[in-house]
Amino acid sequence: MSWSSPYLAVAFYKYVPIEEAEVFAVKHLKYCQRLGIFGRIIVADEGLNGQLSGTVAQCEQYMSDLISDERFSKTDFKIDEADRLAFQKIHVRYKPEIVHSGLKGIDPAHKTGKHLSAEEFKELKKKDNVVIVDMRSNYEHHVGRFKGAITLDIENFRDLPTKMNELAELKDKTVITYCTGGIKCEKASAYLLENGFNDVYQLDGGILKYAKTGGGEDFEGKCYVFDGRVVVDVNTVNPVLVSSCIHCGTPSARMINCVNELCNNQIVMCESCGWEWDGACSEACKHEAKRAYDGTGYYTKSSHQSTVISQQ
Ligand SMILES: [Zn+2]
Ligand SMILES: [Zn+2]
Repeated sequence: MSWSSPYLAVAFYKYVPIEEAEVFAVKHLKYCQRLGIFGRIIVADEGLNGQLSGTVAQCEQYMSDLISDERFSKTDFKIDEADRLAFQKIHVRYKPEIVHSGLKGIDPAHKTGKHLSAEEFKELKKKDNVVIVDMRSNYEHHVGRFKGAITLDIENFRDLPTKMNELAELKDKTVITYCTGGIKCEKASAYLLENGFNDVYQLDGGILKYAKTGGGEDFEGKCYVFDGRVVVDVNTVNPVLVSSCIHCGTPSARMINCVNELCNNQIVMCESCGWEWDGACSEACKHEAKRAYDGTGYYTKSSHQSTVISQQ
């Protein structure tokens, strides 16, 4: 493929058993360091989950190396062009799960909701007795979600079990689950099936793949992502905004972290209020633990640390 940007952002996951996953993680970190690629990769006994950022050549090399390993040969990569690096470091860590769910005994490699392509999703959601459930957290669906989707008031995916009472009335309906990149729904849809739901689907590859292959139709707002871009566009067909600036109320999907590093709340703030409020979510935050607001409202760990050091 040919790309017009200098960098790529690559996201992928694969549920596949990895033997000696901790050893794999150590070796994989060394490999990534040699390659010079940045990002975050989680290695678990159940599989791999990664978000990477690098030059086009680095990312292409990584992807071809990964799929040359038979276990990962069918990995589906989501690739975005980027003008800058979305990460400044590389982390490869072993964890018990590739996405923290706390859902014990759920094995998506064994049983999970039926995958829907973008086109299948568009067709199915038109039918009667079909509901769409957003499996993401508050701060994510706040800035964007599918039109008519049921959202969950949760801070973390691991809080899903606390919402099963609310969802119980949907047991006899056809339920379509979706999330950012599909990884949570592999487990969430499996969990619903485990809890007596009969007809459960999942949007294959999540919102991000839907944006690429389906034009993003009927997704309202923007999609929260877990890197320096914070939110990305989804809908090129019938876009609307669903969130507004906390200070002036103007419709906006510009999400930033509060400049106060102790607050660090993720808030929607328009560009001009960003400068006016110096990136602070409140009057109090303007005066406390302030980092340097550079107009992005995105603070890396390293700039956070250097702020702390310079204050000492
Ligand atoms: Zn504003
Ligand atoms: Zn604040």
